[in-house]
Amino acid sequence: MECPFCKETIKDGAIKCKHCGSMLGISTSAVQFEYVQSTKTSTAIFPLWACIAATIFIIFVIFFVARDTGVNSSNLMTIVVIISAIWAGFDASKINVSQYKSSVCKETWHVVAGMLLLWIVVFPWYLNFSSKIKAGAAMRA
Ligand SMILES: [Zn+2]
Repeated sequence: MECPFCKETIKDGAIKCKHCGSMLGISTSAVQFEYVQSTKTSTAIFPLWACIAATIFIIFVIFFVARDTGVNSSNLMTIVVIISAIWAGFDASKINVSQYKSSVCKETWHVVAGMLLLWIVVFPWYLNFSSKIKAGAAMRA
């Protein structure tokens, strides 16, 4: 191979150029390592059962908070639904949800509308779906 700095011929896999003393291999392997790490951090797929469990947990928390504070539980629920719909809208447009095969929500606004209309179903579904997209496990449309 050729040294990118001095253009002299050096052995394949060399870490340091013998002609100009530039470090070669380290930089590329560090970049590769960083790439592997950055892809690894987002490979967690939340299984659907865990997403449903999280949804039920949130509803329980709302119920108990409402009971202990005297705040109306449907008001609390409405706040949670609106906040998660806004989050899902931003998230769906960031990961470009319309590029992926889905039987439920094909566009970003479908996700937001689904969250607002049928939160209890769409919220756990979207948690699962977006984690699949982030992990690169979702099928492209
Ligand atoms: Zn060199």
